[in-house]
Amino acid sequence: MERALVTGGAGFIGSHLCERLIEEGLYVICLDNLLTGSPDNIAHLLGHERFRFIKYDVTDYIHIEGRLDYILHFASPASPADYQRHPIHTLKVGSLGTHKTLGLAKEKRARYLLASTSEVYGDPLIHPQPEDYWGNVNPIGPRGVYDEAKRFAEAMTMAYHRVHRVDTRIVRIFNTFGPRMRLDDGRAIPNFITQALKGEEITVYGDGSQTRSFCYIDDMVEGIVRLLFSDYNLPVNLGNPEEWSVLKMAETIRRLTGSTSPIVFKPLPVDDPKIRQPDIGLAKRILGWSPRVGIEEGLVETIRYFEGVLCGEKGLG
Ligand code: UDP
Repeated sequence: MERALVTGGAGFIGSHLCERLIEEGLYVICLDNLLTGSPDNIAHLLGHERFRFIKYDVTDYIHIEGRLDYILHFASPASPADYQRHPIHTLKVGSLGTHKTLGLAKEKRARYLLASTSEVYGDPLIHPQPEDYWGNVNPIGPRGVYDEAKRFAEAMTMAYHRVHRVDTRIVRIFNTFGPRMRLDDGRAIPNFITQALKGEEITVYGDGSQTRSFCYIDDMVEGIVRLLFSDYNLPVNLGNPEEWSVLKMAETIRRLTGSTSPIVFKPLPVDDPKIRQPDIGLAKRILGWSPRVGIEEGLVETIRYFEGVLCGEKGLG
């Protein structure tokens, strides 16, 4: 039986990935220090005969008994609020954590997949962003801890590929949403849904004209799995090219939740990218992949999940 290790496996994307890899017939070992991940995300997997959870910080030396066929490095705070709350952990997991997991991949002769990010493009000067755009990142700004950690992680991954011939993959993940996002992770969609459902003010930063391209989690996981099983070593963008302004997202969430919350405007965070849209031509060509789930359809599922969590918090669930 093939065995996969998923770091950050109790996080939002990581937990969906663990689930999918189990469905693919693999034995899955999930490592997570639960800094931003949650045991609730994997509670339903704990009894599974092909799943094992180990609470562990992957910036420390990693020892795993037995064979490993795949290592997927998804551990990292990923929302701007989280990585600014944990700047040093973010730098360490992207650098030391990538080094440790690549060392493990070399030792086990495992295929390695790095979760990178659209943030490597920074506040982009080219639109949409293709993989060969080198980005516009402020290394010392508040987002630099995440952006530069991931840029370092990509460099380290390619070095292990070129020097040690580790079989590597790099996915650049654009904004993704869906069930199991933390309600308080600080990102636009979780904030807006929670605020709308609680009848609180919906906080749009700036004038809301900045854009993002939001991809539903099921599509993202499908793309990641296809990349893992492909033979392509250079970075691949995955995301939904449908570009929305943040204000449109706030208005849509208010409508879908039937909320009467007012939309209020707050200061735009420092270095907040003004535009972001993936060029997914490469993913289409080499993986035959493009997103299938419409944004509103995905939002409805996500809102249902958030309602469930909020009901549980009130003791009604
Ligand atoms: N944003 C907002 N209100 C919020 C949270 C975020 O207007 O309550 C904005 C944020 O400034 C950014 C966009 O929504 O322009 C997406 O932010 P998010 O934190 O989801 O992810 P990012 O793409 O910036 O990493």
